[in-house]
Amino acid sequence: MSTKKRRKVIAGNWKMNMTPTEAKELAKGVYEQVKGKKGCDVVVCVPFVDIPAVAQIVKGTIIKLGAQNVHFEEKGAYTGELSADMLKAVGCEYVIVGHSERRQYFAETDQTVNKRALAALNAGLKVIICVGESLQQREEGVTEELVRMQTKIALRDVTAEQMANVVIAYEPIWAIGTGKTATADQAEEVCGQIRKVIGEVYGEAVAEATTVQYGGSMNAKNCEELLSKKDVDGGLIGGASLKAPDFAVIVNAATKG
Ligand code: PEP
Repeated sequence: MSTKKRRKVIAGNWKMNMTPTEAKELAKGVYEQVKGKKGCDVVVCVPFVDIPAVAQIVKGTIIKLGAQNVHFEEKGAYTGELSADMLKAVGCEYVIVGHSERRQYFAETDQTVNKRALAALNAGLKVIICVGESLQQREEGVTEELVRMQTKIALRDVTAEQMANVVIAYEPIWAIGTGKTATADQAEEVCGQIRKVIGEVYGEAVAEATTVQYGGSMNAKNCEELLSKKDVDGGLIGGASLKAPDFAVIVNAATKG
């Protein structure tokens, strides 16, 4: 049983993988592996077209459904985009905002990440806001400054009350999909810095209550050490979330506390 006050969140990011038929099978597999688990929230963030199929499987289970992006306007001429209300209407509880792949390939900026986070929160969704440095930025010694800035801008105009629906995912870009994981100490250090900046903006109580995840090649082998760190409150998991047994090992590690 966890002694931490914060809720731990293990979220799978399926990225652009799985047709609806495949997604249904994977969701069933995840359900079989994690049913009855207590002590952490389990989320699957699936491609938009898979949402209805996965919603059917996870309804009434401990698994919560999430999307991988949301637009910042409520409606209108934004071809190819989906609003927060649309995601809610099809059963999403969570949405990832500002993933580095969105920043890198789709020109997301700290400002649009903030707008998307606000739109999602104002519609009643929970957000997983991703921040993290590139390898070059780490080597230049600016990780802390960068992550502080990304976090502060992403949270602009987010109220202290809304922080109950915010998860921050520290995702060093050099560790995403590369098989190179941050060491547990590196993850702990930056997750702690994120908590510190949240404390500066919202005060100690909000900082202590906010879930800060690590993401970047977390897998069945390294999860236990990463999740044992006091400021690492869960994980955002890409590759390993596509294999139900591996994902379940990570969920298990998170329930140990
Ligand atoms: C991610 O997509 O957020 C991620 C961390 O991917 P991976 O686990 O594959 O590195």
